[in-house]
Amino acid sequence: MSALELVFASGYEQVVFCQDAACGYRAILALHSTALGPATGGTRLWPYASTADALADALRLSRGMTYKNAAAGLALGGGKAVILAPPVPFDREALFLAHGRAVEQLGGRFITAEDVGTTPADFEVAARVTSWVAGIDGKGGDPSPWTARGVFAGILACAQHHWGTTDLTGRVASIQGCGNVGAALANHLAGRGVRLVVCDPDAERTRSLAQRLGATVVAPAEIYDVAADIFVPCALGAVLNDATIARLQVTIVAGAANNQLEADRHADVLAAKGILYAPDFVINAGGVISGSVALLGETHDAMVRRVDGIADTLHEVFAHARRDGISTQRAAEWRAEQALARPRTR
Ligand code: NAD
Repeated sequence: MSALELVFASGYEQVVFCQDAACGYRAILALHSTALGPATGGTRLWPYASTADALADALRLSRGMTYKNAAAGLALGGGKAVILAPPVPFDREALFLAHGRAVEQLGGRFITAEDVGTTPADFEVAARVTSWVAGIDGKGGDPSPWTARGVFAGILACAQHHWGTTDLTGRVASIQGCGNVGAALANHLAGRGVRLVVCDPDAERTRSLAQRLGATVVAPAEIYDVAADIFVPCALGAVLNDATIARLQVTIVAGAANNQLEADRHADVLAAKGILYAPDFVINAGGVISGSVALLGETHDAMVRRVDGIADTLHEVFAHARRDGISTQRAAEWRAEQALARPRTR
């Protein structure tokens, strides 16, 4: 099915193409669902090979946000924006002002924050023309440390479920991507005595982790062949597919990247190989939960409890999967679908 056909077939409420030719801004804002609240999700800035690729990414990511917010028990719907990166050099300030105006036109049906290729500073700029941004000072701040904290809590849950202990001393984690989340997560893991193997096309990022935490650096293409206990995807999506799963030599896959499975069936392929998979939209919800302080009026303490509660959610998902003989991905989707099916209160 083409991405265009998917828009109707998969129930997207609204997909908006926006352009401001003066600064080279071209973006797709995909609102998958506002059933539980305003469609909420990050904005990705990426040099897509084609508009079709950008649309496919926006659709996949926004649907993932619906499931992520629902599984986390948040009164937020799912959406995502992708900006097609203009040729360099470009005026970044003008680009994010244009983006802010596009977001503002949706009148609060869509709330956005940073994602791959964007920073909280970009949304400080967008916030000059729209109030519908999160992840900036006074509105949740940088989500990445919270995403990392949630993934770390999730890894402890995986360890408890799979090995019967949360003691990670001497375990090996292979981290794919040492950006905002990957680097913060590396700190958490190293603090618990985990030995790190890391990769990133940005050599400066891996060098820093090698120096600070004694991480071993491998080339990005080699990360799937590393013999480790936990594979931690913290870069891009679709990294769990037939070719890569065949190469994995780990017992747990738990990381921050969105849409890690190339297709849902790859959750079954992982299970058949005896690998425990932490569904990405459950384990990486810390960032969006952190934004809920401002968006939903939650207290800081309640937000922290919810981020750490990702461990409890995963325990429930793993128990359901084991009980019904289904993949952890399917069990997590079922949980989200239950939340979406509850009668609306607004
Ligand atoms: P980031 O842009 O800061 O970091 C991504 C890193 O991955 C970069 O250092 C990049 O060089 C590296 N990378 C790119 N291609 C790679 C490859 N083939 N192999 C290894 N590394 C590669 O992004 P981030 O904010 O750290 O997010 C990482 C992932 O987590 C993304 O998939 C994002 O959607 C997801 N995520 C992030 C948050 C958040 O709060 N930032 C929340 C939920 C999900």
